Amino acid sequence: DTLKVAAHMISLAIQRQRFYQMSIKDELTGLYSFRYFKDRLHEEVSRSRRYRIPFSLVIFDLDKFKSINDTYGHPFGNVVLKKAAETVLASIRIGVDMPARFGGEELALILPHTDEDGCIAVAERIRTRIQELCPVFEGRPVSITISGGIATFPAHGEDGDHLLKKADDALYAAKQRGRNRIITAGDLGQGEAKKSAPAAASPPPE
Ligand code: GH3
Ligand code: MG
Ligand code: MG
Repeated sequence: DTLKVAAHMISLAIQRQRFYQMSIKDELTGLYSFRYFKDRLHEEVSRSRRYRIPFSLVIFDLDKFKSINDTYGHPFGNVVLKKAAETVLASIRIGVDMPARFGGEELALILPHTDEDGCIAVAERIRTRIQELCPVFEGRPVSITISGGIATFPAHGEDGDHLLKKADDALYAAKQRGRNRIITAGDLGQGEAKKSAPAAASPPPE
């Protein structure tokens, strides 16, 4: 009887853990959800401020993804999104870096203890690997590219919302400058900030 009770309690604990993981992770990509990411971002700001160390944030957005869906269909678009997420996971420190999906086709990363140069190296590695993915549709390789915007604490913002806004402005500039590139908040010229509220700073539509 004692063993039965113990087994039941363990199975409840496993189930609870599974539900928790489901609540903080995106179903399609397995990356963390926007809400969980935002909580972790605020924690990272507190920790980095306390220990006076930098950290960086990068927001990625797949280029011309609407036309990928329109040309090859939504299921293939989902395959591309999954492959992009796998590429991100294969390019970061698991258990240290924090990968998330911001709703649609935007992915993001928090890189603790990482300055701007370190973040550029990681983001460029991801950009290059995604360019090399060339997923195949009906026997033909399809070209996929991604753009990214970087903001580093504390140089580009003293809190999570400002950092998100700066990274989103840098992403917007990467799109304006021709896509398939990584731009940092430090690279931004006058007038390159996005005019409207950043999509990344508000929860994605369900
Ligand atoms: P840009 O280079 O400027 O980012 O162009 P874009 O076409 O990627 O940008 P836009 O924001 O106009 O389109 C995003 C598209 O992403 C539109 C939507 O159909 C697609 N999308 C969003 N979420 C999903 C998803 O879960 N699966 C698939 N297949 N497509 C998605
Ligand atoms: Mg987008
Ligand atoms: Mg896009």
